[in-house]
Amino acid sequence: MKPPIRDRLRRLRRAFREKRADAFLVVHPVDVGYLSGFTGDSSWLLVLGRSACLITDSRFAEQAERECPHLSRTVRRRPLAEALALRLRRSRIARLGFDSESVTVALRQRLRGRLKGVRLVAMRGLVGRLRISKDASEQQAICRAVRVAEEAWATFRKRIRTGMTERRLATELDHRMRLAGADSPAFPTICAVDASASMPHAKPGARRLRRGSVLLVDFGARVGGYVSDLTRVLFAGRISPRAREVYEVVRAAQEAAIARIGPGAGFCDVDAAARNVIEEAGLGTAFGHGTGHGIGREVHEPPTLAPLSKKGTLEAGMVVTVEPGVYLKGRFGIRIEDDCLVTRTGRRVLSRLEKDLEAMVL
Ligand code: ZN
Ligand code: ZN
Repeated sequence: MKPPIRDRLRRLRRAFREKRADAFLVVHPVDVGYLSGFTGDSSWLLVLGRSACLITDSRFAEQAERECPHLSRTVRRRPLAEALALRLRRSRIARLGFDSESVTVALRQRLRGRLKGVRLVAMRGLVGRLRISKDASEQQAICRAVRVAEEAWATFRKRIRTGMTERRLATELDHRMRLAGADSPAFPTICAVDASASMPHAKPGARRLRRGSVLLVDFGARVGGYVSDLTRVLFAGRISPRAREVYEVVRAAQEAAIARIGPGAGFCDVDAAARNVIEEAGLGTAFGHGTGHGIGREVHEPPTLAPLSKKGTLEAGMVVTVEPGVYLKGRFGIRIEDDCLVTRTGRRVLSRLEKDLEAMVL
């Protein structure tokens, strides 16, 4: 399915014109890709009233020609800011919008120095707001990233042996994801055994999987520019009564949050649905992070489903993770994470990996 680039540019134009800008500069590679189809980097997209221009360099000239035949392209032989100034001089731009989430203070100063007579207008998070709702082509791409991760998981599971280190396990899963069709892992895979897993973002190390161990695996695939993000917990041989108890609490919390997802649901309400279950079980202090986040071209995108996200509600087309967790210092951590699409009537859970406790025993 082709990405609706024209429609994205139309929405961007509408948004920057509202702020009385007559052009908009896109510098974040992920945003450039979203608005142009270009998959290279080190390039800027200048969106004017009726046209758009990709400013790139010779390394990407051929790629840009292939990926963005609909855009005008400038292959620069001077620094980006200078090439931009030259291009702007031809277009009589008085007010140039930019996203202050992605333009650094240093870059802003450089632009100010180069673009004499052009007023820079900061529009914080503007492209992020366009990207927050996923169109049909993006939903399809995310589904593909979920399927690839799931296929890799199935072969990975069969290869897990006691004695393997976290590092070995993570390498194995990364390898399986690439073989299943991933361009790369979506982020550094987390394989955390026992006490390591009580740190939500543990780095895989030398700790070995033993009989009776708890293994937390947080992983995702990047396919065609879009990502998946999943977490499952496996038990090597047997499950301790405490782990069993905690797992069922986290499972119930995740189900409660998923059930809350739908258009109009507050970001913090989805979080509260999970948090209430964990608090009622007396484990509230062991759940420090938010319940979920948006995914798409990046692993962490708006919206954030957390207690402090008081403003904002879910809309059809958003894709969010639901990942409550309980972390018991020095013992283990349990998190279950799935990816959900908000539909017009509710939600569709995109991931289908098993999570019944009995199915999680190796
Ligand atoms: Zn994750
Ligand atoms: Zn996540």
